[in-house]
Order: sequence, then structure tokens, then C-alpha cells
Amino acid sequence: MSGDCIFCSIVDGEIPSHTVYEDDDVLAFLDANPLARGHTLVIPKAHQSQLQDLDPSLAASIHEALFDLVGTVEGAVDADGSNVGLNNGEASGQEIPHVHYHIVPRFEGDGGSPIHAVGGAAPDLDDDELAAIADDIAGD
Ligand code: AMP
Ligand code: ZN
Repeated sequence: MSGDCIFCSIVDGEIPSHTVYEDDDVLAFLDANPLARGHTLVIPKAHQSQLQDLDPSLAASIHEALFDLVGTVEGAVDADGSNVGLNNGEASGQEIPHVHYHIVPRFEGDGGSPIHAVGGAAPDLDDDELAAIADDIAGD
């Protein structure tokens, strides 16, 4: 439990949720302000702010649960697809600083946007710049 974290309070049962999945490490529940029917949040029970803060075994647990839940959520609401995403850090739009994946079911003609819509102004990068960035990420 971390301070007054809403999601820790849900894990501790102090705030109610519509839980759809639970194991020792992971909890999944419906988003209280859904972007679509079946909008589900998947969280580690342990409080960590950002994805890179998770220890590897917890990261594995949450991704295994996510993997299982995507098809289950889509099936339950008869969706045609889904967007799966995570706001990682305040600059990305993360409002609750406890790691959580969103599973947002999508329906043909629902008027929503693809995940490409999340970025700011797109940079104009030539191939050398792309190569330099790739090297920085790869640690070359
Ligand atoms: P984010 O902007 O990625 O931090 O998203 C936080 C999400 O948590 C939003 O989609 C909210 O609708 C959702 N949310 C906030 N409070 C609750 C709550 N008590 N139960 C379920 N979902 C919540
Ligand atoms: Zn928390």
C-alpha cells in the first residue's frame, strides 16, 4: 500500500471495484469511467509507479494475465478488437501513479482512434537520426 493510492485501496478492499480477475500478484477490474463496454484495468497488486519499476517476476505475472484477459474481455462484450495500452509517467497522461494496463474493447464504426493518435507533434527524422536513436536504445 502506498499513501493514498486509489488502486492500492482497491487491492486492499477499501474501495469497491468490479473485479474480473485476481491472482496472488495481479488484479483486474472494470474502469470506473469506461471508454467502451468492458474497459478493463490490469494492475500489479504491489504499488509501483511505472512499468520499468516492476521486478521481473511481477512484470511476467502481469503480462501473463494481460495475455489471458485480452481475448476474454473482447469475447465477453462481443468486441471486434481492442486497444491495449499503458500511460507510463505523468507526461504520457498517467493520472494514477500505480502501473495499470488499459484493455479498451473496440467495435467496428465506434468512432475511436488507433493507438497512433496518442503522440504529440510527430518529429521529422531522417535515417541517420533514426539510426542514432536506435543505437542509443540498443546501447551501442
Ligand atoms: P490513467 O490516466 O492511465 O492513470 O488512467 C486511470 C484510469 O483509472 C482512468 O481511466 C479512470 O477512469 C480509472 N479510475 C479512476 N478511479 C477508479 C476507480 N475507483 N475504479 C476503477 N477505475 C478507476
Ligand atoms: Zn498503489
